[in-house]
Amino acid sequence: MNNKCNLIRDILPLYVEDMVSTDTREFVSEHLEHCEACRAELEHMRKPADIIPNTDIVPLRRIKKELFIKRLQTVFLTAILACAIVTVIFGILTSPKFFSYSDDLFNVDSGADGSITIAFDNKVTGYSCMKEFNDETKTEIYQINAWTTTWDIYSSNRGKQNMVIPFDRETNVQIYYAQNDGSEDVLIYGINDNAYQDTVTLPRQIFLPYFMLAFLVLAILAVLRFLLKNKQAIIVWIDRSLLFPISYMAAHLCTKGISFTSYSSKRDFCIIVLVAMLFYFAMLTGISLYKAKKRTSQKNFED
Ligand SMILES: [Zn+2]
Repeated sequence: MNNKCNLIRDILPLYVEDMVSTDTREFVSEHLEHCEACRAELEHMRKPADIIPNTDIVPLRRIKKELFIKRLQTVFLTAILACAIVTVIFGILTSPKFFSYSDDLFNVDSGADGSITIAFDNKVTGYSCMKEFNDETKTEIYQINAWTTTWDIYSSNRGKQNMVIPFDRETNVQIYYAQNDGSEDVLIYGINDNAYQDTVTLPRQIFLPYFMLAFLVLAILAVLRFLLKNKQAIIVWIDRSLLFPISYMAAHLCTKGISFTSYSSKRDFCIIVLVAMLFYFAMLTGISLYKAKKRTSQKNFED
């Protein structure tokens, strides 16, 4: 090994990394062509450099994938929480405010063909109608109510509401207005035959049993979790199931507060279930993110 070789060996690390000038590169290449010892040294230097990326690429890919999933989950969590908030706000804005009976709330007119038209006042933006048939008196009993919503009050396109009941010669017709405020229903069309007197339309109470059921399921699952705490495979499923009653109860509290009654129970129930589903997926994603964070911080601690 001569002095030139020593000089070349000093440069080789930079040469391998391609951090030399063109002149130096040519100088080294020229020497390597003639000197087997330096060529061997170069090969030796290159090998570990080639091997390192090969072994490192797998964990690197894994970390990249984990980061990608984490980012995706964060985006998903944000989107789903935004959807839940929008649904809750939408539910509150479009919840019906029922009108009590008053003279100017609507006009009832009988048409020439015997049909009955109920023309609501402009402030009414929605109504619903329930129909019953009384076999004894051969009477069709209609029970109507009318409402508006916060949304309708502030949006400009409030269409006029009219309701038409077609004429049926076979039967009598009675129409009641349900005030939905705890006061008696008011007869607005037909002859009072005392069959339907003093009726107060009451709100549906279905939400309390549902809420209690969710609470019961939660309590049972919590006890099961405690009893089976050593069985990891079952605990995973219990933890996922626990989120169902929690989501339902949280959705109820967000949409209806602590009220358990409703005059529009179907609508309210649909909104609660929708919000509960969004909460469920948000919680699943949130927990997964939290666990991933815990794993990373643990790993860092161990390192
Ligand atoms: Zn040499």
